[in-house]
Amino acid sequence: MKTRDVPHTETLFDGDEPEDTLPCAVCRRPVKSATAKHWIRIINGGGEILHPSEFGKVEVDPMGDLGEWPVGPDCRRKFELQGWTFKADHDGWK
Ligand SMILES: [Zn+2]
Repeated sequence: MKTRDVPHTETLFDGDEPEDTLPCAVCRRPVKSATAKHWIRIINGGGEILHPSEFGKVEVDPMGDLGEWPVGPDCRRKFELQGWTFKADHDGWK
């Protein structure tokens, strides 16, 4: 199974999320979910990103499957998550 660690950042956002947002998977700053361009699938209780090429091919432990979360453009670039993100045209969590 192709995975990598979810990057950690020192600048975790710690405040109320505005309506219609989800926290960025890396820094937790609010990202507008309806217009978020980049998403990652988080598994293993929040510790790992599942590579999009594995979607539908591997079995994920449902107990540790946190679903899909947006990644802000800054975090995507900073932590080189290109290739690990996918585009979604829905509200993420499903
Ligand atoms: Zn972020």
